[in-house]
Amino acid sequence: MSERELKIAHTEALFRDVNERIAESARRFRSDDAEFVCECADPGCAERVRATMDLYEQVRSDGTHFLLVAGHEDTEVERVVKRPHRRLAIVRKFNEIVARRVRRLDPRAQPAQ
Ligand SMILES: [Zn+2]
Repeated sequence: MSERELKIAHTEALFRDVNERIAESARRFRSDDAEFVCECADPGCAERVRATMDLYEQVRSDGTHFLLVAGHEDTEVERVVKRPHRRLAIVRKFNEIVARRVRRLDPRAQPAQ
């Protein structure tokens, strides 16, 4: 795996962890949607995008899917699979190395304790 692929996988996995906490508190307040952080490969990206909890759950059900501000996708490692609204893009890692890595870092893939 290249240095770049490793970095992308880790950056996006980190943003995913942040969003898991955002989703957790949104659920606690019984909110239908939330402002999520963009899960793109840019570690300096601080943009946020609104998504419904249903959509967020759909994205999280696949360890290789990520939620991005439309246009932030890195076409070398990911492909847009869904464009629910103008600001929001759902991407899938088609780069196998990155996909394997992010799947391993998926907090929901941990075996139940
Ligand atoms: Zn971004």
